[in-house]
Amino acid sequence: MSMKTFQDLIKEVHEKGICQECGGCTSFCSAAFETVIGFKNPNSPPEYVNKDACLECGICYYLCPQTHVLDEDLNKEYEFTDFASMPVGKFDKIYSCQSNDEEFQKYGTDGGIVNTLLNYLLEKKLIDGAIVSKADGPFSREALYAENKEDLIKASGTVLNISPQVDEVQRFSTYTRSIPELSHYKFKKLAIVGTPCQIYTIRCMQTLGVTPSEYIEICLGLFCYHNFLFEKSQIENFEKEFKLKFEEIKKINIKEDLILKLEENDSGERTLHIPFEKLGNYIRPACHSCSDFTNVYSDISFGGLGSPDRYTTVIPRTEKGKELFKKVLDSNAINCFDLDTTTKNCMKDLISKFSEQKTKRKAKFMDSLSVKV
Ligand SMILES: Cc1cc2nc3c(=O)[nH]c(=O)nc-3n(C[C@H](O)[C@H](O)[C@H](O)COP(=O)(O)OP(=O)(O)OC[C@H]3O[C@@H](n4cnc5c(N)ncnc54)[C@H](O)[C@@H]3O)c2cc1C
Ligand code: SF4
Ligand code: SF4
Ligand code: SF4
Repeated sequence: MSMKTFQDLIKEVHEKGICQECGGCTSFCSAAFETVIGFKNPNSPPEYVNKDACLECGICYYLCPQTHVLDEDLNKEYEFTDFASMPVGKFDKIYSCQSNDEEFQKYGTDGGIVNTLLNYLLEKKLIDGAIVSKADGPFSREALYAENKEDLIKASGTVLNISPQVDEVQRFSTYTRSIPELSHYKFKKLAIVGTPCQIYTIRCMQTLGVTPSEYIEICLGLFCYHNFLFEKSQIENFEKEFKLKFEEIKKINIKEDLILKLEENDSGERTLHIPFEKLGNYIRPACHSCSDFTNVYSDISFGGLGSPDRYTTVIPRTEKGKELFKKVLDSNAINCFDLDTTTKNCMKDLISKFSEQKTKRKAKFMDSLSVKV
């Protein structure tokens, strides 16, 4: 049987409209001295740049989160079976935590836990840097290599007060292409924060031994129900539909619904809750074909769902993740809400419910594709 190549990714992934544009294939193409594939248009799937130089090695196909070639290997390694029997993945304990650092708490998306953990790793020199994501406007983010606390604060969830440059940007997306950053920096020990599709690709690289994945010390995974993508033309519709101005958005949280904190005016700060069902027009198409909500292959997963306002839900998974979480807890950098058994069970049930809904959404979407074909 011949090796599947980028040509097969075009057929099986791009043409079906399920490319997550993670950049895994373009960043780790084996033809290192020639650019064979690349992103010609931002927010569109990658394309051939020089097809003749393709080595037909199949690496891009193996790494793609939409081919699932390595699922069996990953499931074995991360003790996961399937979403039907393990909707929240493998874990022993679940926590609801908040940072004890005033700045991480103030600027954090939820409890500021992800950045507090990264800061601990940087201060203890357990990593050289971390790939995170910086907001450059509402619903618009770009990858950032953070080497110190200042960088982490810059990339905190709530720092949205930068001019959104609405006139210059044609498309806004909350999705950050973090993986290509791996090839832009020199590091020996790295932490990466990512959505489930990104962490999946990284785990595939690690399974295949693709450089520089061996230098990734820890994968901090965010819960992710979907990401958003706005064409410039849609912004007006969004503003009309939800009676707001894009520039007014000061903070975005994603929990049971989309929570927008809007700029203070005479009547004070406004908080708007938008149910996911009303956001269909603004969801990245590829997110409909994705089943992992809680980031089952990460070392530790983090989300807002299940926790009170300004707290992060934390699920340590691997031995590495549990060890890091314990060290940070022991260092008194974070505090945990004292959860009784009933509250913990409610949290797990709620997270399971969202995970199950996401799997069903994927099944429905994939069915619709097979009907169209
Ligand atoms: C696109 C997206 C969708 C999400 N969907 C959900 C959801 O449906 N339900 C839910 O409960 N939680 C969701 N989360 C997770 C949640 O919003 C918080 O990120 C999480 O609870 C951690 O909060 P924190 O205050 O501890 O993190 P912080 O301490 O504020 O740190 C967050 C870190 O994540 C990095 N980051 C932010 N956005 C991205 C991105 N797009 N890609 C990579 N890194 C990024 C930041 O740079 C920062 O380092 C989502 C997050 C993102 C980014
Ligand atoms: S050289 Fe290998 S990794 Fe690169 S496009 Fe061709 S098949 Fe994919
Ligand atoms: S690896 Fe990522 S960018 Fe490449 S085809 Fe797959 S989903 Fe798209
Ligand atoms: S929903 Fe899935 S495909 Fe979309 S950004 Fe999240 S993890 Fe990636």
